[in-house]
Amino acid sequence: MDIKADLLVVGGGMAGLVAGMVGAEAGLKVVVLRKGQGATAISSGAVDIMSYLPGANVPFANAIEGLNAVSEIYPLHPYSVLGYSDGGLPVDPERVVARVSEAVDWIKGKLNGSPSALVGDLGRTIQAVTLLGSSKPTSLVQGTMFVEGSDDWHDSIVLFVGFRGFPDCNSSITAKNFLASRLPGENRPRRVANCTLDVLPFGQPHNIYSFDIARYMDREEGFAELAKTLKDHVRSTGADFIAFPPVLGLRRARANKFELEDKMGAKVFELLAFPPSVPGLRLQNALESALSTDGGRLLIGHEAVSFEKKEGHIDSVAVKTPQRTFNIIPAAVVLASGKFIGGGIKGDESGFVETLVKLPVVDVESYQTAGARPQRYTNILALSPEGHSLFGVGVAFDSMFRPTGTDGQPVADNVFAAGSILSRYNYSAEKSGLGVALATGYAAGANAADYVKGALP
Ligand SMILES: Cc1cc2nc3c(=O)[nH]c(=O)nc-3n(C[C@H](O)[C@H](O)[C@H](O)COP(=O)(O)OP(=O)(O)OC[C@H]3O[C@@H](n4cnc5c(N)ncnc54)[C@H](O)[C@@H]3O)c2cc1C
Repeated sequence: MDIKADLLVVGGGMAGLVAGMVGAEAGLKVVVLRKGQGATAISSGAVDIMSYLPGANVPFANAIEGLNAVSEIYPLHPYSVLGYSDGGLPVDPERVVARVSEAVDWIKGKLNGSPSALVGDLGRTIQAVTLLGSSKPTSLVQGTMFVEGSDDWHDSIVLFVGFRGFPDCNSSITAKNFLASRLPGENRPRRVANCTLDVLPFGQPHNIYSFDIARYMDREEGFAELAKTLKDHVRSTGADFIAFPPVLGLRRARANKFELEDKMGAKVFELLAFPPSVPGLRLQNALESALSTDGGRLLIGHEAVSFEKKEGHIDSVAVKTPQRTFNIIPAAVVLASGKFIGGGIKGDESGFVETLVKLPVVDVESYQTAGARPQRYTNILALSPEGHSLFGVGVAFDSMFRPTGTDGQPVADNVFAAGSILSRYNYSAEKSGLGVALATGYAAGANAADYVKGALP
């Protein structure tokens, strides 16, 4: 049986769920397809807006400075497109900042009260502490990762917590690196300490996974066990701050943080982790709940596999599940299927391909990749400030975020694109991934809603 929808969103990561919510808020009947998990669910769960100019070692003072620089230097960047007036250049930097800021305020409102409630704004860089003890500049962190009072932690004691049998975090190394990476005279605590807790979700101290501890912490007895074990370490070290790997819970993380602060008499925060991380999945879950609160329908395990196009208009998309195949008849489509992890773009020996509409794939400077092998877009250094231009390939798009073909024209009047499927920015070098997904999902969702309501040609 076919399903009719005003807005069909292909992809259920940050970009697709945001576009879906914007459509639902505008009164559209929205269906979002998510075939599996993408980059959003495995990210650190902190939202980077624009931390670095590619190639730079020093981060921007804050995201506003970053957005202004992008508007000046990269007029085709997805953020810059938000600053076009009357459909084209020049870029108005103030408009870019205003539109990103609107999207940030909106998502903070949407996630308020959820386990992933976000803290931060464009005017301030948050130095989130990582599992390695280093700092990562970002713009929005989940409340559980926010270190309240860390602007001045001179004279304080920070206790780093590890878990026996949990190999991702060696609290002794984290503590040492944390101190070593702070310059003398910089805002650094008086002392660091570390401890290893015996909290055993399965009764055995072997190969414990972050999600195991988080699920254990969602249960009352798990939390009580941890609080009991931790108390002695806090007392003996006199800790003012307690740094946890990000395992405070999937559902109860916020409540656990506040309850621990109350019980321990110290500020508690989670460190930023490597993928896949509990806060990434927490963010994914919170976005999905927000979509359903707005009345959007999310179909998990549903893959868009082909489409029919008539007179420059996509009027049917075939959807496959393990049990059946059916069609969705959409008025408008937002393509937010991600890049290599989400599956929106694939690359092999024969070149890159956009997997659903078969759109041409271009590089970060808008040149057609036309059969070039992905290896051509990698840097000899695995980790360098320039990053790999591989992460900048994607689909080209116009000022309305409609994907375009080799002739530069939109491939269909009712299709819009958002998130990491877009070309012309390199999220890994810029540290802008979830920020671009948010801002472009917000814009593409609004453009699609305008289109459905006849306000856009
Ligand atoms: C390891 C890692 C860590 C990162 N850490 C950070 C970070 O700390 N901060 C930050 O800001 N950014 C981070 N990023 C970047 C950021 O996660 C991504 O840029 C962002 O999540 C992209 O969101 P998206 O919605 O465009 O794509 P995704 O989140 O990848 O979502 C794509 C979705 O499309 C679905 N899909 C694909 N094809 C189909 C189809 N045919 N039918 C149905 N569904 C389909 C996928 O299942 C998936 O749900 C990280 C990226 C990676 C890879």
